[in-house]
Amino acid sequence: MNNNPEGKTVRDHELGMHRNITRRDFLNGVAVGAGGLAAGALFPNLLSAQGSQQFAQDVPGYYPPTLTGMRGSHSGAFEVAHSVRDGDFWEKAGKPIDTHQEYDLIVVGGGMSGLAAAYFYRKQAGASARILILDNHDDFGGHAKRNEFRPGGRLLLTNGGTVAIESPFPYSKQARGLLTELGIDPPALEKKCTDREAHRGLGFAYFFDKETFGADKLVTGAPAGMGRQAGSSSTWADFLAKTPLSTEAQQSIVRIQEGKTDYLEGVPQAEKKARLSRMSYKDFLLKVVKAHPDVIPFYQARTHGLYGIGIDAVPALDCWAIHFPGFQGMGLDRVPSKGLSFTALGEVTPQEGNYHFHFPDGNASIARMLVRSLIPAAASGNTAEDIVTAKMDYSRLDHADSSVRIRLSSTAVGVRHLGETASARQVEVLYGREQKVYAVRGKGVVLACWNMVIPYICPDLPAEQKEALRYGVKVPLVYTVVEVRNWNAFHKLGIRSVSCPGMYHSSVNLDQAINIGEYRPPRSPDEPILVHMLRTPCQPGLSAREQQRAGHYELLATPFETFERNIRDQLARVLGSGGFDPVHDIEAITVNRWPHGYAYEYNPMWDPDWPEGKQPCDIARKPFGRISIANSDAAAAAYTDQAIDQGYRAVAELLSA
Ligand SMILES: Cc1cc2nc3c(=O)[nH]c(=O)nc-3n(C[C@H](O)[C@H](O)[C@H](O)COP(=O)(O)OP(=O)(O)OC[C@H]3O[C@@H](n4cnc5c(N)ncnc54)[C@H](O)[C@@H]3O)c2cc1C
Repeated sequence: MNNNPEGKTVRDHELGMHRNITRRDFLNGVAVGAGGLAAGALFPNLLSAQGSQQFAQDVPGYYPPTLTGMRGSHSGAFEVAHSVRDGDFWEKAGKPIDTHQEYDLIVVGGGMSGLAAAYFYRKQAGASARILILDNHDDFGGHAKRNEFRPGGRLLLTNGGTVAIESPFPYSKQARGLLTELGIDPPALEKKCTDREAHRGLGFAYFFDKETFGADKLVTGAPAGMGRQAGSSSTWADFLAKTPLSTEAQQSIVRIQEGKTDYLEGVPQAEKKARLSRMSYKDFLLKVVKAHPDVIPFYQARTHGLYGIGIDAVPALDCWAIHFPGFQGMGLDRVPSKGLSFTALGEVTPQEGNYHFHFPDGNASIARMLVRSLIPAAASGNTAEDIVTAKMDYSRLDHADSSVRIRLSSTAVGVRHLGETASARQVEVLYGREQKVYAVRGKGVVLACWNMVIPYICPDLPAEQKEALRYGVKVPLVYTVVEVRNWNAFHKLGIRSVSCPGMYHSSVNLDQAINIGEYRPPRSPDEPILVHMLRTPCQPGLSAREQQRAGHYELLATPFETFERNIRDQLARVLGSGGFDPVHDIEAITVNRWPHGYAYEYNPMWDPDWPEGKQPCDIARKPFGRISIANSDAAAAAYTDQAIDQGYRAVAELLSA
């Protein structure tokens, strides 16, 4: 791209940066500039007709899923927590306002784990149990967020975060039981609702960008492999011949993809796995397979979606377990190896009977079903199918009539026992909301928020536990969603998914089509559709944790305009040969930014070999008086079922204490 100011202006015009698309947030008819404003300005305290204070979520019509622009960790969601971290919050905060509200349980964090904790608590303590859930975002669900678009009045849904019900671990009795009680039967829904016809005939492609590969080139008809379920019938050699890759790189890729060599011949199975668990996939390709270095840019981003980092930082054993190429001749078995403290995730995935179900809004549907179960007045219906189009009435979420209340845009800033930890009968929770601090009290508290937040808001915890809570660095990533006028370009090019290993977003995909309840995905290429793009702000060369830290800062420092320019440029270059026009075809953009995304999972390349029960998450999740700790961080595993399991355990600890 031409970066001189004049050139940039010309290019910006060609890309349609001037177009007045839906990237501005509208709430109750009030327009908010692209990128959003600070929460205080966005949702000022409102006074009702009676003069009492009313918060934004209490106003009829409040409906965050339709907001576009910068979402995920949106403006207004994180400033309070960062100020507590930086140590200047209490200087600025006024005296806490006592709400005089008392609850049986206060849950900090309205993600899957916090909602599940509330569900399990109410199930055991009874329907009259008074529960308050606090979350710092303007919507509930944590990472399980819903993005809603309405082109021409038609509903288009997608996930802003959590994609699907799937797990490399089989779901536990409690997690599967919760889904069953809500009415979710993933295998049955997968069979009934997955629309296998909508994208029939559309395949996979690679886009080689000139900055990385020397020439811009879209090469369609990518063969199956590397975890892909379907591909064209072309051979790797034929496919690679159309790419700008060097002859040496092409020959190496054919060997990696199709070879049957045991590169560690004679090494026993357990030793092979041990070695592969401590070397990156990049090193495996370069040092063990002895591939040409030019293959690395081709494979570098292949792990971005699942790990949030590139192949330089992901163990080769993990890549084998998720069916990456190169291991075909190595005779590795899928029985978790004895004596290895790390098990590659895919090693324990059942080969049969596993399932993958994607609601049109991802696992936000599970969050919405949990909320409907906890607060029936908030949404109509009672099935897993009708939740998809059920309208959520946010004004019922924090209603005095309800025994369960969900308070949004509320960041917990202080959690402490009222009295000695061992004998206290209550815990006080202070939370910041719209530039004020409020106090509530509970008989018990579940901290279902992120591990690294807890030492700041609960300073009374033992030092060893606080250190363990700080250990993990959550994985940053971005799910960008672009509403396009039609998908004729995809159709013309015969593609539904493009891997762009060198670009700002490493993939461009049409969302999976699901027919569920009254929801119908687009079928005709003339209809509007949502395009997903994935960005992981990783920095190869650093350790996984350092990459994650750097990515976190990068995401918070990147303005929406930069995302938009890159999105327009990338779609124009990738889909241009199919007739895509960024000026007229892009109708709306939502950037779901997750600086604190996936829970940190231990990685044998970067983490020590802890004895059983001594991993940081084991120490971090110990109960403390009337406070217990949930969240997927408590399992060091970024999966919905793990978040549910941790909610269950935290509640069991509280109720047995
Ligand atoms: C982009 C993305 C895609 C994913 N896809 C999948 C998938 O396909 N399948 C799968 O199984 N898993 C997936 N995961 C992982 C899965 O989403 C999580 O494991 C699970 O939803 C986490 O739930 P949680 O409640 O533990 O945490 P979260 O969803 O993070 O919820 C915790 C909540 O606590 C809030 N909080 C933090 N501090 C405070 C405070 N001081 N006061 C108030 N609130 C606070 C947070 O802001 C957040 O809203 C994905 C994760 C991400 C980020």
